[in-house]
Amino acid sequence: MINALTVDLEEWYHITGIDDYLKNADLNKYANRAFNNTMRLLDMFREAKVKATFFVLGCIAERFPELVKRIDQEGHEVATHGFYHDVIYKRTPEEFAKNLRDAISLLSGIINKKIIGFRAPDFSITEKSLWALDILIALGIKYDCSVFPVKHPRYGMPKAGRFPYKIKDDLIEFPPSTYRIFNYNLPVGGGAYLRIFPYWVVKAALKSLNKENKPANIYVHPWEVDPEQPRIKMPAARHFTHYANLDKAEKKIRALISDFRFTTVREVLGIV
Ligand SMILES: [Zn+2]
Repeated sequence: MINALTVDLEEWYHITGIDDYLKNADLNKYANRAFNNTMRLLDMFREAKVKATFFVLGCIAERFPELVKRIDQEGHEVATHGFYHDVIYKRTPEEFAKNLRDAISLLSGIINKKIIGFRAPDFSITEKSLWALDILIALGIKYDCSVFPVKHPRYGMPKAGRFPYKIKDDLIEFPPSTYRIFNYNLPVGGGAYLRIFPYWVVKAALKSLNKENKPANIYVHPWEVDPEQPRIKMPAARHFTHYANLDKAEKKIRALISDFRFTTVREVLGIV
């Protein structure tokens, strides 16, 4: 069974839901950690001989076009994470369409290939923003990885599918992985969940998915392998989930990519 490995390529300060706190932070003082952190991920993936899908933020591609080229040249898939790290349900359909069109044309101009995959910042395709699916289809997107089948204060559609399915017309939804336990979808697919759960829990969950012949969809961020990143003042619960176990993430990602088989989303879905 081959699984999807994905990276949301963004800066360490692209943190949703804490706008009031970010306003007070001097972000420019610390900018540009994404380049080096992404290079570290690329090194890890090369060593383990795995390919991944990078959902690249437009504003990062604008600053580091060479990095996007490098990702493509190393055989990974370049997909889009939108232009700015803003959640869809706070935008109008017109604003979302314009930003996404700009992001796609920037990326496809850099690598000279079609961009067919999308993940919304903070999984922000929810009941409130299902209109976004029509825009994805109109802009040539073939698959989406944004509809998280979990209950969460900021995102999620708990009753949505857990494995790849057609969400609208021919648009495929491949959600981040969850483990079904006590009638509840436990997110195990990456980010804070991957950092906070002991590795054996994640490993057991993925093993059980693969045993059922289901591919997992795992996501990581460049800032998660950067324990030295500056800390932004934010509410305690959010501070915990954002910064927990940053010093252990690299080890966990290395273990995952050595214990399981991974490739790009495009390849797992068989899109040619
Ligand atoms: Zn993101």
